[in-house]
Amino acid sequence: MKILAINAGSSSLKFTLIELPEEKVLASGLFEKIGMAGSFYTIKYQGEKHVFEKELKDHSYAVDALMQGLIDLKIINSLDEIDGVGHRIVHGGQKFTESVILNDEVLEEISAYNELAPLHNPANIMGVKAFMKALPRVIQVGVFDTAFHTTMKEREFLYAVPYEWYQDLGVRKYGFHGTSHRFVNKEICEKLGRDDLKVISCHIGNGASITAIDGGKVVDTSMGFTPLAGLMMGTRSGDIDASLIPYVMNKLNLTCEEVVNDLNKKSGLLGISGVSSDSRDVEDAIKEGNERAILAQDMYAQRVANYIAMYNNLLGGADVITLTAGLGENSIMMREAIINKISSLGVKLDPSKNDFRGEFRCITTDDSKIPVWVVPTNEELMIALDTLNLSKK
Ligand code: AMP
Repeated sequence: MKILAINAGSSSLKFTLIELPEEKVLASGLFEKIGMAGSFYTIKYQGEKHVFEKELKDHSYAVDALMQGLIDLKIINSLDEIDGVGHRIVHGGQKFTESVILNDEVLEEISAYNELAPLHNPANIMGVKAFMKALPRVIQVGVFDTAFHTTMKEREFLYAVPYEWYQDLGVRKYGFHGTSHRFVNKEICEKLGRDDLKVISCHIGNGASITAIDGGKVVDTSMGFTPLAGLMMGTRSGDIDASLIPYVMNKLNLTCEEVVNDLNKKSGLLGISGVSSDSRDVEDAIKEGNERAILAQDMYAQRVANYIAMYNNLLGGADVITLTAGLGENSIMMREAIINKISSLGVKLDPSKNDFRGEFRCITTDDSKIPVWVVPTNEELMIALDTLNLSKK
């Protein structure tokens, strides 16, 4: 079966065409600047990258161009070969606890959460509608970033604010990166041959979050009402004292939106290092002795370590810690820095096992109290698998 996994943004659309059950990527690509001047797209197939420049007035034009591209490049012979389309949807609120088959009614229900994810959900829905138009007889499935986290209990997901804010406004922790944490949890459970594992899953990339999972159920996660909370990230601050917002507004004569924008886009590794949000640039600066780059990495690693210690306590002792995403999979330096900061938990890095990128491997010593595994994430595959499963129902 051939399944398309789709991630639609407001002016972009990312796709991966996956053959199942072989789990083989047939083609992938990205449409950019949709609805803007200079729109273009790339399709990767059999190791070659094909670049096309074409006016893409909206997502429907991008989907039509994708269908045409798949046929022109002979990736498929006919659109009938596409058996399903899975869509990443950022926010499913409290309602969507698992992936669902999409239709007009369900889309209406999802759009109720647009206010909670104004940059993402409307764009995700636009993508779905474009595919419904192009492939009317093909199953469309929604896979939510928030769904995996809906097992959290009130004690964890509530903020200690007036309870009515939760009841009337939906103010609570939702958590994000759920598809990645769910995939990693599935992988490590399969690898260790157990489904009752207590896992601390660290997704550390440009966006970063940590999730405490017990027997496949999320107990707590670091992101919150929005993806700004929790860990320090590439450009996001992570947890702060909310009172600094009015203080900075007054001092710098900024609006609330401008301060929140700075917390999202000018903070984190970028804000502290002053060098870059990209950890490769920060690591290069560290090698040159840049003090603020050293501080930025130290802060980043310390926050990850602190969350791990907290979640180890919450889980009553974790069985395994997993590292994934850009830094978790690739940054040898960051992995070392984090593990050295959780030695009080009896976690011991084996440096001879840490010298690799992008593989599924254990990096701790045999006598480490908690093993640490690097588990490459694959949200597209998870989306495709959910789509396949729902297509069988
Ligand atoms: P993601 O958001 O998961 O794509 O992760 C992006 C982050 O991973 C960026 O900060 C990258 O610099 C980082 N990253 C990717 N490859 C490496 C690498 N080889 N060494 C260090 N950091 C890396």
